[in-house]
Amino acid sequence: MIIDVAKGSPGPVTADVCVMGGGVAGITVALRLATKGYRVALIEAGPAAPSTASQEFYKGENVGTENLRVDETRLRALGGSSNHWGGWCRELDAYDFNRTDLSGRGWPISSSDLAPYLDQAAAILGVSSATGADLPLASSDENLQTIQMYFAVPPTRFGERYGAALSATPNVGVFLNAAVTSAERDADTGRIAAVTARSLAGGSLTCRARFFVLAFGTVENIRTLLLWNRLNGGLISPSDDLGRYYMQHLHQALGEFATIDGATPLPPSNSPGNPTVFLASTEKVLREKGLGAFRLYSAEINCDALVDSLRGVVSGAFCSAVTGGGRLLATCEQRPNRDSRISLAAVDDAFGQSRVRLDWEIDTGDAHTLLEAGLEFGRYLIRSGLGRLRINPDVLAGGEPLRGWTALPSAPGAAGHQLGGARMSREPSDGVTDSNCRLWATGNLYIAGGAVFRTSGHANPTLTITQLALRLSDELDRRLMTG
Ligand SMILES: Cc1cc2nc3c(=O)[nH]c(=O)nc-3n(C[C@H](O)[C@H](O)[C@H](O)COP(=O)(O)OP(=O)(O)OC[C@H]3O[C@@H](n4cnc5c(N)ncnc54)[C@H](O)[C@@H]3O)c2cc1C
Repeated sequence: MIIDVAKGSPGPVTADVCVMGGGVAGITVALRLATKGYRVALIEAGPAAPSTASQEFYKGENVGTENLRVDETRLRALGGSSNHWGGWCRELDAYDFNRTDLSGRGWPISSSDLAPYLDQAAAILGVSSATGADLPLASSDENLQTIQMYFAVPPTRFGERYGAALSATPNVGVFLNAAVTSAERDADTGRIAAVTARSLAGGSLTCRARFFVLAFGTVENIRTLLLWNRLNGGLISPSDDLGRYYMQHLHQALGEFATIDGATPLPPSNSPGNPTVFLASTEKVLREKGLGAFRLYSAEINCDALVDSLRGVVSGAFCSAVTGGGRLLATCEQRPNRDSRISLAAVDDAFGQSRVRLDWEIDTGDAHTLLEAGLEFGRYLIRSGLGRLRINPDVLAGGEPLRGWTALPSAPGAAGHQLGGARMSREPSDGVTDSNCRLWATGNLYIAGGAVFRTSGHANPTLTITQLALRLSDELDRRLMTG
């Protein structure tokens, strides 16, 4: 059943689980719990398809490192940001969960906790296979390896793909054009008792449930918790970490390379699905050098100007042997940074609620990751006799290496990987949620989505977000069964 709250108020709603946000994570949780027989209310702020009026609510402030606007990287409609995602998928590596050098105590879960959900998550996202061997790379000094990426082709749009199933499932109520704006906390138990959602057209609803799942995407999840803290005396999440350690993947053109004698060390990989093999960092180089993980790929270029500029530094024989080359692109892990932060702006939206302020901060450790990613590839080219790399001067200088990155054709995908702000932890003093994505301060409020990531690896995040959503659904199933 799908109800448009813009057309009128539906009256009080009760459910076993109230899932807030109808994007990748929210739809995954809602359908999973519905198949287990629970009554689910799925409350979505936007309409069935993206609209200018709905996007207006996603406007906010960008400060800090050059970034794409917050209303351009997210979509506020059924299906959420899956309406413009690229379909690139890879699970996190096992060591990503234990980068204690980057994130203190590491994740409170390991890759084996998510492994049972890999195939189901891949199927939900429309990826036919998500397992394949990562292989060593000859002449790489064990610092680079080949890795597999997987693709949803075409990228699954969750509203289109799962709208009919949501509508046909009798124990799911979907409420569109219903922006959740407030939560009522029971002072005796500390639990969330109800949430209220509103439509600009005037309709509203109040939903009471045993459990609540916040699935608004990273930035909006944090904004909402900050707003609810304001309403509830800071008690929804008293953690000082709320909003902090916000991460994006670092997306950068590292330089240009020329290759000789027909070598193709890095085939152009702009188009999803072709190829599926990339070069990436090994655990060894990350631990030895304290780097964020990185993945390398390339875009085609005309090499004439590059070869001309190389003439002074390489032999004429090399120049005449050049047969190709490319622009070296990298997707790198940002090191978790406490100063990188989501907070509330001084400007309100049409519901009178503070808009979001995104202060994305990178530091010298991140500049070091970008530089080393380029140098490792350059060393590999020389050692294996394949070619030469000219590193982008901004990356080499390390000052503002991300300058100009938002103009890269493939940049928006990277800015869309919004992670952290409510990181998982072993103890309340070290994060915002526990290992089951439950807010430490509440008994029944959970986060679905990338906000709980403690580190980001280099992998595109949506496969992991979906694995986490399935695992969260199983946790809710256990709790609902045991009362
Ligand atoms: C251009 C681009 C390309 C991308 N490509 C890739 C890729 O190739 N691979 C990859 O892994 N990831 C990619 N991503 C990231 C991917 O889109 C996200 O990881 C994913 O959509 C996150 O899912 P989510 O459910 O957490 O959030 P979303 O999908 O954003 O869903 C959040 C939902 O909550 C709703 N909502 C918000 N506020 C409220 C409210 N107050 N009340 C009710 N509902 C609300 C929204 O309308 C939305 O439906 C890309 C992102 C962008 C921007």
